[in-house]
Amino acid sequence: MHANRINDRKPLEAHAIKELQAALHGELLLPETEGYHESRTIWNGMIDRKPALIIKCRETSDVVQGVHFARNHDLLLAVKGGGHNVAGNAVCDNGLMLDLSPMRSVTVDSARKTARVDAGCLLSDLDQATQEHGLAVSGGIVSHTGVAGLTLGGGFGWISRKHGLSIDNLISAEVVTADGQVRTASERENPDLFWGLRGGGGNFGVVSSFEFQCATIGTEVFSGLIIQRFEDADNYLQFHAEYVRTLPDDITVWVVIRHAPPLPFLDESVHGRIVIVVAFVYLGDPEKGQKLIQPIRQFGKPHGEAIGMNPWCAWQSGFDGLNSHGARNYWKSHHLRELSSPCIGKVIEFAEKLPGPQCEVFIPHMEGAPSRVPENATAYAFRSTPFVLNIHARWEDAGEDSRYIGWAKEFFQETRPFARGVYVNFLSDEGEQRVKDAYTEKAWQRLTQLKQKYDPTNLFRMNQNIKPSA
Ligand SMILES: Cc1cc2nc3c(=O)[nH]c(=O)nc-3n(C[C@H](O)[C@H](O)[C@H](O)COP(=O)(O)OP(=O)(O)OC[C@H]3O[C@@H](n4cnc5c(N)ncnc54)[C@H](O)[C@@H]3O)c2cc1C
Repeated sequence: MHANRINDRKPLEAHAIKELQAALHGELLLPETEGYHESRTIWNGMIDRKPALIIKCRETSDVVQGVHFARNHDLLLAVKGGGHNVAGNAVCDNGLMLDLSPMRSVTVDSARKTARVDAGCLLSDLDQATQEHGLAVSGGIVSHTGVAGLTLGGGFGWISRKHGLSIDNLISAEVVTADGQVRTASERENPDLFWGLRGGGGNFGVVSSFEFQCATIGTEVFSGLIIQRFEDADNYLQFHAEYVRTLPDDITVWVVIRHAPPLPFLDESVHGRIVIVVAFVYLGDPEKGQKLIQPIRQFGKPHGEAIGMNPWCAWQSGFDGLNSHGARNYWKSHHLRELSSPCIGKVIEFAEKLPGPQCEVFIPHMEGAPSRVPENATAYAFRSTPFVLNIHARWEDAGEDSRYIGWAKEFFQETRPFARGVYVNFLSDEGEQRVKDAYTEKAWQRLTQLKQKYDPTNLFRMNQNIKPSA
């Protein structure tokens, strides 16, 4: 009897599925099993794929079983961390998906200021555990994002200008490679693999846990929002592009252009209007932070502001609501080598045409500790570009796909002259050349050789794929 038709060539026997089930600590889900649909659902509502089998991994040994099973049965293999990647690579049609979400523990060593983090953790798990000790790991800005995918691509957020990218704070990782071996990757053990994991995504194996260096930040940060007028966009963005680059690494100031959400400190007449949201975090004495943020507060006539000491975990989840699960999402992105006058002109031209109330133009400032790490130290490249431009189209109705995607693509094309490379974690499904664009030529060569060494058959290909060199 053939229990599941996994691919066109090779139906899967029921006894093979039974044997797999018996070897697991976690659950094996089939399409008819309860929990299957919840498990295959990811953040981006555009992705609706149905794996033939899902392993809800409880331990590293489940990951090992899954890797062997996929290889031996010639199955497409997908790995789901937090399921947030906009390209939807966490889930495949047919094939086998490893859902790491049951692996959610974080162990903090407060004396060494390190955290051992299971690969199914979300950023909220990591923040909650480290904050008990006044610590934090440099990571992203939406608390329901997965630690694993974010880290393997680089990982930046509010404290990365001061403390480095997530990968710059990675001490070691436990990895299951394509041969089913469990390896440690660190500066001392398998350093080539460690280099590739820091920016090369899930191409070299399934990471089952990460060990991070934590930063001491306390439990509250001086932070806030200043809502600038879109009518002043040209002047404000010119000022912003210069001013933030003069600031010390303790302060991070980012811009989001979008329709104003109904924030309580804004007059109702502003709700729904296009505005420039200037968001900042200062790590240090709030009085000093006040001085640094003052020129932004005094610029033009802001619609409003909310500034003060915020608990770190509350600040980290403050943007969750605007990025909730299930909407349709399409991203186009670049690293910007300049936020020059002509570039700002293009940003304003397309921001004026924001196709819907949930769309955003996100421009984080990146320089600082990450730029002081040599470009060849990790696979993540383009450490010296000052800004990122992320064009985030977000909507609900599938009938509107082409309008939203069209806006993002056109905006992207028009800002290409100001770009140098792209952050691999912000890529949609854009083909091999765009994956290459995320790396320097040298890094790409090294990555393809590493792929040849650790995954010569390209078992791990549901990702921003790097093909083996041979
Ligand atoms: C709302 C939102 C906010 C974001 N904010 C930020 C931000 O502030 N900073 C930032 O740097 N990025 C940010 N990102 C981008 C984010 O880094 C990527 O989407 C990242 O891929 C998410 O990781 P994940 O584990 O949730 O994703 P998944 O979709 O589960 O995985 C992404 C990729 O990594 C692979 N993968 C996942 N887990 C493993 C593993 N354990 N071993 C091997 N491969 C694995 C998957 O197969 C897939 O190819 C954001 C994304 C979203 C949707």
